[in-house]
Amino acid sequence: MEEAVESDDDEIIEVGPDGLRVVSDCLESLLIQNGENDAVRTCRLCDARFRMGYVTVAREPFVNATEDELVLHFTSEHAEAWHALRTEV
Ligand SMILES: [Zn+2]
Repeated sequence: MEEAVESDDDEIIEVGPDGLRVVSDCLESLLIQNGENDAVRTCRLCDARFRMGYVTVAREPFVNATEDELVLHFTSEHAEAWHALRTEV
């Protein structure tokens, strides 16, 4: 399954001390902020899976999720896309 992540060419990519793209930056590009509530965010990749019909049930949005929880989601559910984004420097 292809999971394309849109990247903006003009974007300056911030790199952490580990030589990888910073986690918060990666999370930001993979999450869709709910317009009305800042605490509610939707995974862009899960949303795409749902819209393309790969899954029949939309994933529950993240509510007040910590960075660790979000990272865990991406490393377990979208390991390939996450790795690609982190090493996109
Ligand atoms: Zn997801």
